[in-house]
Formats: sequence, C-alpha cells, structure tokens
Amino acid sequence: MKKVYFERAIFISWYCSLGDCTYCYMSTQKNLIEDPEKAKRSTSSLLAEAYLCKKLGWKIGNLAAGYGSYTHDSILELVKNIYEIYGKKFWLNIGVLPEKTIVALQPYLEGIYGAVETVNLDIHKKVSPNKPIAQIENMFKICDKYNLKKAMTFIVGMGETIQDFEKLKEFINKNKVDKIVFYALNPIKGTMFEKSSGPEIEYYLEWIQKTRKTFPDIQITAGPWVNRVGSVKMMLDAGANAITKFPAIKLFNSKHAKTIENEIKESNYELQGTFTKLPEINEEEIMGLSFDNSLKKGILEKVKEYVSSMHKS
Ligand code: SF4
Repeated sequence: MKKVYFERAIFISWYCSLGDCTYCYMSTQKNLIEDPEKAKRSTSSLLAEAYLCKKLGWKIGNLAAGYGSYTHDSILELVKNIYEIYGKKFWLNIGVLPEKTIVALQPYLEGIYGAVETVNLDIHKKVSPNKPIAQIENMFKICDKYNLKKAMTFIVGMGETIQDFEKLKEFINKNKVDKIVFYALNPIKGTMFEKSSGPEIEYYLEWIQKTRKTFPDIQITAGPWVNRVGSVKMMLDAGANAITKFPAIKLFNSKHAKTIENEIKESNYELQGTFTKLPEINEEEIMGLSFDNSLKKGILEKVKEYVSSMHKS
C-alpha cells in the first residue's frame, strides 16, 4: 500500500522584512512587530516541536519564516539543533537565501522552498510586489549546484485560471522542481482576500490532477486547512502524496484529526504517523542530547506542555 506522510511546517518567526504580500498573515502583523527578535519563537519550543514530529511520525515539511527574520549565524545554529533532535534532513522555507548561507546549511537540508505562490505574472506583481520570481529561480540554480532539492509553493484561488497550468508546467520543467505544495487560498482578515471564500474544491483538485498527470514523479503535497479535511481522500485520489497545513498539535485527536485519518483509511494510502495517538516521551533521550542543560530542561518542559495540551484535546 502506498504511504502518505503528514508534513509539519514549523513556524520559527512571525516577522517578515517584506511584509507586503497581499494574501499573507505576516503582512497583517508587520506594523505590530517593533522588535523582529521578539517575533521569533523560543529555541526550546522549536526543538520540542521537532522532537514531537519525530515521535509522532511526522515529517518536518519545512521550517518557515518570513524574509529577513534570521541571520546567517542564527539560522545555521537553529538548523543544526533541529537536525540533532529530529535526526534527519528536512526542508527550509525562509525566503531567498544567499549562496554562502545555502552552502553552510546544505549538510542538514533535504531541500529549500521557493515561495512562488502563483505563476501568473500579472497576479504575482499585484500579490507579491517585492518577491520577484527571478530571485527564486536564481536560488534554485544554487540549490542545483549543491545537490539540494527544490520545492515550490502554489496558492490556488488568487485569480489565476486553469489556463495558467501551461505556465506552471514551464516553470517546473525549467527549474526541475522536485516538490510542489498546493495550498487553497485561506482568506485572512485584514488582507485584500478577506471577503473571498477560497477556491471551489473541484478547481483546487484540478490543479493537483493536471500536475500529477504531467509529472508522474513529482512530489505533490496538498495543504488542506481545517475546513477542507473532509476532502483529503479526493486530494490523494487526484495525485497528492503528502498533506500539510493542518494544525495537528492544536487539533490533536479532534474530530478533524479523526476525519483526516478516516479519509486516508478510505483511500489507497497508509498514513505514516498519527493524529490521534499520544506519543511516548523518552526523557533520557532528550537529556542525552549535546545541548547545554538549561536548553535540554527547557525542551523537556515544552514537550510536556505540548503533550498535556494534546492530551486535553
Ligand atoms: S515574503 Fe512570505 S512571509 Fe513575507 S509577506 Fe510575503 S508571503 Fe508573507
């Protein structure tokens, strides 16, 4: 039976130095953040989350943050620490990175994301005025040089039509993209899309179907927000082979979590990991890590906090 993974995006900061993409939650926060350092999550909570991903059988889909939220040194330190606690390579999605940083991060990463979002250039200019696709393509070339895989994000429902699929096909071929994550536009309050209701599910599925048919080997990750968990089977049937976006810790063992597990059971896929069974925590494993004692204690405390909230739900 084919396996399906849950890919957890771990948000590492709520700051973005661009902060002007018209669909993005971070654009509604930029003016509220006085000190970007304070918008970062604590290292102990990030490492605790990475540890839980390992214990729950989830992949770290990516570490995610806005542009300019981490320096070369601070992201390198975090990535090394996450690699130690998680034990496997993972993906990074924090904007366009310089070659020097990519080289330093390479030993710990499976690949890097380019947040392309839409391949319709007229729409792109309007929704992401300061995030040119050319910069992402340049970064992809650097990834090729250092044998890193490349992922792109695509938000369905920002005004593109299915006729734009040809442009997506061209982009994937030109950049030899290994993985594509399809999100359905989730209208955020305070953005230009707040009154939108997001794309129809059939239209969203059409993007996955066409991509799978054209690229039999590409990895396709579907990002169902909570309101679309009842369509997970259709997303897998359409050609997705992983899912993301679901707030799996907050909604652990909830009716939505059970719906996803049932949807996967009804498809021809076998879920790796769980959304409903509490993980076993091994204190010795955490205390045996190479971090300093206060960080290890902080991680353990956070892990217990998360598990306790998961237990309540
Ligand atoms: S660059 Fe990314 S994080 Fe920053 S505003 Fe745009 S979409 Fe949001």
